[in-house]
Amino acid sequence: MSDDKVRHTGGCACGAIRYRIDEEPLASGICHCRTCRKVASATTLPFVTFPARTLVYEQGKPRAFASSKGVVRTFCGACGSPISYQNDADPALIDMMTVGLDEPDAYRPTFHVWTSEKVAWDVICDELPAYPRGRT
Ligand SMILES: [Zn+2]
Ligand SMILES: [Zn+2]
Repeated sequence: MSDDKVRHTGGCACGAIRYRIDEEPLASGICHCRTCRKVASATTLPFVTFPARTLVYEQGKPRAFASSKGVVRTFCGACGSPISYQNDADPALIDMMTVGLDEPDAYRPTFHVWTSEKVAWDVICDELPAYPRGRT
């Protein structure tokens, strides 16, 4: 295996789930929607959008649930870490949770989404574009 191959790796908190993606990310954002907040048990859930086709689970398989119509989220069945988000409207793409990736520093977010649902005391302290709903 050559060392110059694109490779992004990540996993859950307990180590049961490990994955890799061999393509470059397409976007990095921070979601404030209610469902992401519930899933993360935090005020935001940062995510990185990748092409879905090269995602490989090298260890373990996440569990899945439909968080809304056409949306599948996965998580580790052992520790509960959120792993991915995928929407039927765009099956070629998958969002991986930024902090689940091994090098979160490498994926600096460039926008916020669903700020219409954010927690009132969660103050956005950067100058990034902030969309009330999804990014258009
Ligand atoms: Zn786990
Ligand atoms: Zn969200």
